[in-house]
Amino acid sequence: MAKVENIDNLKANMADYDKIIDRIKEILKGNTQRYTVVINENNKIIKNEDTFWALKLLGAKLILVSDKEEEVNISIEFLGYYDEISDPGIRVYNNTLELVNKDKPTPIVKLNNIIENNDINIWAKLEWYNPFSQSIKDRTAWYIIENSKEEIKNKEFIYEVTSANTGIALAAISSILNKKSKIFIPKGAPEYALKVLEILGSIAVVEGETTNDLIKKVIDEAVKDNAFVPNQFKNIFNVLVHIRYTSKEIEYQARYGKIKIKGIFASMGTGGHIAGISFYFHNRDNNIKVFGVQPKENSPIPGIKRQNFDDWWLTKEKPDLILDVSKNDAISALKKVAKHNGIIPGLSSGAVLAGIIKAYNEGLIEKGDYICILPDNGLKYLNEIIKSSQ
Ligand code: PLP
Repeated sequence: MAKVENIDNLKANMADYDKIIDRIKEILKGNTQRYTVVINENNKIIKNEDTFWALKLLGAKLILVSDKEEEVNISIEFLGYYDEISDPGIRVYNNTLELVNKDKPTPIVKLNNIIENNDINIWAKLEWYNPFSQSIKDRTAWYIIENSKEEIKNKEFIYEVTSANTGIALAAISSILNKKSKIFIPKGAPEYALKVLEILGSIAVVEGETTNDLIKKVIDEAVKDNAFVPNQFKNIFNVLVHIRYTSKEIEYQARYGKIKIKGIFASMGTGGHIAGISFYFHNRDNNIKVFGVQPKENSPIPGIKRQNFDDWWLTKEKPDLILDVSKNDAISALKKVAKHNGIIPGLSSGAVLAGIIKAYNEGLIEKGDYICILPDNGLKYLNEIIKSSQ
């Protein structure tokens, strides 16, 4: 007989990610757990392990189990699918790490006077409401560490290559976990980042022109020093976190805010958040288009880079359309937001906003609601923003 069990009470061997991703896809499309997970008397899973992992990585609290496989077709909402992102309540937490996974969702706010068409609504998801790097990258850093506990247990050091935000988030989390961190940053990274890393007790190594230049060096040093490397460029948890949290939050917030999403605009660095969002929404609702924004050639914008989609993520889904914007476009767009809405988005956020302005000017979007993911805010880049107006 099928019964409801708390998902954390079950034991399972780790299954293959290709299979888990297929199962996540099936669950997102069908919105249900189809078959029970079969367990023995010790709560150990003996059949349908992929379903267990898929539901766990999607954030379900409950799961249907039985001693023989049964078809159940139970709604994931009944399994507590939205619980962890739907009620931050009175927001009292036991430690600062809980700010990353429990103080959710991050806000979504409508921005006014960005384009001259009142039939197009721009809804900004403000990712600077994350505690450590004050950026979307806290989610990545936390989820990789959270899911690598066994690997990290006996390691003293965490090493990572980053343009700034992931490094700050990892430095903060390392301090909380009593680990030492070494963060490798390419030259030209924002000035504030080195100071913040120092305050957090991390070691910053500034070298190379791009993050790509540093990846091999970090891996070599980590092997020598027995350090853990989260490797956000390849680690699937950098995508899974945006399926379980960022995307699910957007879906839930849209439902309660009566926002009928036509499209989502996002920038790309590792591609982690846009890969998660593309995977989630293409499987939930095929009509939602994902627009990826990247810097124009020879117009670098901190935190993001031009993508070649050859070596994409295991989740496969990609943005539907790519838009190129310059750093000047990004700065004009963020200033427009500041003038009319009183908040100062960061440079990659400005790029995302420049992306929707461009899509509108080129007739690529029609009336309706659009979500823009704003990764961090402009206070980190004040010098660059001010310099551009001189
Ligand atoms: N914007 C900023 C400010 C970032 O720091 C990053 C990544 O480091 C991104 C955008 C891109 O995010 P992702 O790595 O998920 O593509």
